[in-house]
Amino acid sequence: MIVMKFGGTSVESAAAIERVAGIVKAREERRPVVVVSAMGKTTNKLLAIAAAAIAGKRDEYIPQLHDLRDFHSREARQAASLAERVELDRFLDEHFQELTELVKGLAILGELTPRSVDAISAYGERLSSYIVTLALRHFGLTAAHVDSRDVIVTDSRHTQAALNFPETNRRLAAVIPPLAKDAVVVMGGFIGASEQGVTTTLGRGGSDYTASIVGAGIGAEEIQIWTDVYGMLTADPTILPGGHRVKVISFAEAAELAYFGAKVLHPATVVPAMDKDIPVLILNSRRPEVEGTRIVAASVPCENTVKSIACKRKITLVNIHSTRMLMAHGFLRRMFEVFDRFQTPVDMVATSEVSVSLTIDNCKNLEAIQAELRQFAEVNVEHDQVIVCLVGENIRYTPGVARRVFNALDGINIRMISQGASLLNLSFVVSEADLNRTVAALHEEFFSYLDPAVFERNGVAHA
Ligand code: ADP
Ligand code: ASP
Ligand code: MG
Repeated sequence: MIVMKFGGTSVESAAAIERVAGIVKAREERRPVVVVSAMGKTTNKLLAIAAAAIAGKRDEYIPQLHDLRDFHSREARQAASLAERVELDRFLDEHFQELTELVKGLAILGELTPRSVDAISAYGERLSSYIVTLALRHFGLTAAHVDSRDVIVTDSRHTQAALNFPETNRRLAAVIPPLAKDAVVVMGGFIGASEQGVTTTLGRGGSDYTASIVGAGIGAEEIQIWTDVYGMLTADPTILPGGHRVKVISFAEAAELAYFGAKVLHPATVVPAMDKDIPVLILNSRRPEVEGTRIVAASVPCENTVKSIACKRKITLVNIHSTRMLMAHGFLRRMFEVFDRFQTPVDMVATSEVSVSLTIDNCKNLEAIQAELRQFAEVNVEHDQVIVCLVGENIRYTPGVARRVFNALDGINIRMISQGASLLNLSFVVSEADLNRTVAALHEEFFSYLDPAVFERNGVAHA
């Protein structure tokens, strides 16, 4: 068995779903289990509908619901066979009726709880998984739909639920392999249910994680993440186009890149796969013949120091300064307690004798945090910062990496730097205004020469 996960853009239209069907069919004998995201930008649209509902904007959420229904109906009708039309229409009627009632309920309450967010956002994957099942049948495959909420069991931390692995694995092993003997199993990513059966979700971008959970649970031989890029690239293409494809990378490196903003992989994805030593592949659903990126357990020997550059945007830098810190103890504890009390994770930290700089990406409670910190320190806050992170296992063995960074970034103000906490990254903070030239300069410095065993130069095989 293999797991094949198709992201939002890979199922964004009837034409895209048809490509998916072709890709799955070509791998039919490997007994694929297909995990799909919501179609296109559906999750964002559902969240926008929920926001309009609680704001009482009926003239917005009603047409938005209609548009979403029209979109699903139009694409699904093209992707499915005429014979399934009646069943499809009934399915869409039922689901959109339910969804509309839910949204109207929110409008009355004027309040959006994390539980309601999950109930609403789950519709994306509930719809797409069913539509893709019909499309695969239309394409001549035997396909069986599994409601992920029957097999993916989580706690009740809505919008960021944590897995109950023993129960999930038990259900996956009982349900999936028997079905996969004679059919392509299709299920929605991102969604699950609590032990009480209440719908939950695994966090934005969580379908990658579902694929890995399912792969580990059924002992798949491979987990394939099909998306809209050629694989893991040497730089985030939304910041620097023209990055090179990384052919092979270790689990540890891929996880590090995902933590630091490489959206191509949800950060939790590698964990279940790594536990069971199942290789993860990143592939392009528009160009299935390109071999993509292979993520493997072993470390990957490479002549380049760096494998890829990741960027985490919308970061806030908090600088805390206190002369009372001089020769005193307990200051850091007191400072971190403030962040802890306001449930605000701290990402990067740098300290000197009398000051501490740290970064956060959740500013919800920043005002209150500042007020408390000011009771014992001076505080200044800078928004619109970016963590830029160089990742590669060789960083720890190669002297002079920081020197190369500083030289390449001559004239760019580096606000904060951290190396050594994780042995395979070097990360630093620059302001958003300097981001593009920072990444361009680093890319030039670290990827002008490419080890042909690990990278494929952009334009070689897919110009
Ligand atoms: P999907 O909907 O298939 O899950 P995502 O949008 O979540 O796709 O992830 C793919 C996107 O990740 C790419 O389109 C690209 O813009 C972004 N990305 C960020 N960093 C990288 C990187 N280093 N390599 C490849 N893609 C990256
Ligand atoms: N549809 C969900 C999202 O947009 C999950 C995913 O696509 O991975 O976040
Ligand atoms: Mg994604």
